[in-house]
Amino acid sequence: MPRFVIQQHAASTLHFDFRLEVDGVLRSWAVPRGPSTDPSEKRLAVEVEDHSLDYVDFEGTIGSGYGAGAVIVWDAGTYRVLGEGVSAGEALDAGHLSFWLDGEKLHGGYTLHRTSDGAKPQWLLIKRRDETADSADPVAERPESVRSGRTIEQLLDD
Ligand code: MN
Repeated sequence: MPRFVIQQHAASTLHFDFRLEVDGVLRSWAVPRGPSTDPSEKRLAVEVEDHSLDYVDFEGTIGSGYGAGAVIVWDAGTYRVLGEGVSAGEALDAGHLSFWLDGEKLHGGYTLHRTSDGAKPQWLLIKRRDETADSADPVAERPESVRSGRTIEQLLDD
């Protein structure tokens, strides 16, 4: 099963990086507010450069340059594409991917939908209406790393 990871990243702004393993790389989006489990909450997701698969487990501090700051693995697991006969890469190229996450925090269906092209294409990350949808706020209620149990504030205090 292909993997996904959501890293919380305290760079020049605090944000989440949502990454899906697709065709040997991590396709990546910066999600300022992080994911929601509420289908009525549409979260902006700005497409950013692909990352190496090596980055899927990265937690720690980026010392200098672009992206400098602390990173925790906020959630991680595997995903599968929803829908018959379409690959994740093809669906993303077409601007619309529905998938099912099996993470430690997040479970269930999500959709990524591209809303604008350009140098930094904008997408919306939206929880699908299924039995896993709820009005909880996992970003606020479960801030800790699924790898170390530490919050990004604890990492920044070191
Ligand atoms: Mn980032």
